[in-house]
Amino acid sequence: MNKNIAFPYYIFTILFFVLGLFNLLFAYLGFACMITPFVLVYRDRKKTWCQRYCPRAHLFNLLFKGRSLTNRPAPKFMTGDKARLVFLIYFLVNFAVLIISTIMVGIGQVEAINDLRFLMAFRLPFAAPQILASPDLPDFVIHMPYRIYSMMMTTTVIGLLLGWIYKPRTWCTICPVGTISNMAINQQRS
Ligand code: SF4
Repeated sequence: MNKNIAFPYYIFTILFFVLGLFNLLFAYLGFACMITPFVLVYRDRKKTWCQRYCPRAHLFNLLFKGRSLTNRPAPKFMTGDKARLVFLIYFLVNFAVLIISTIMVGIGQVEAINDLRFLMAFRLPFAAPQILASPDLPDFVIHMPYRIYSMMMTTTVIGLLLGWIYKPRTWCTICPVGTISNMAINQQRS
């Protein structure tokens, strides 16, 4: 392959969201995006995922490089330590809710939530189309991908807004995956 032609990793982000419209079960693929960065940090002792592969970062560059409204860094209060901490806590709480709610649905303690939510709380006013019918599966198996898709959708929308207004990869300054990767690398070096 011609080395000057970069592989279009952004395709994976687009595919993730498009496949979810066919069937939300495809959202299980989102786990690959959550786990692979840390596997690479463990293997390489650096942010290989962020520096080379992250489909979302490639998408932000594709859409906004040379086209963002201001092309300036975002204000410090949006990208500083406090903002980073807020998004890290959001990510951890969201992930915990995702796992715990799936277990609760599995043991019959709560109803499955089969809708898409922005920032965990705000239900979208429309349902995902689901062009392909799901096979007959336990409720918790269906509940979980709705939560994964909601989580990925929320952070992608925020990243798109930030990239559109400020520098294309502004989201990377507060992305929880990047923050945890930095913490893991510092831990490895100490
Ligand atoms: S910081 Fe987040 S969005 Fe940016 S490259 Fe890393 S994983 Fe991707």
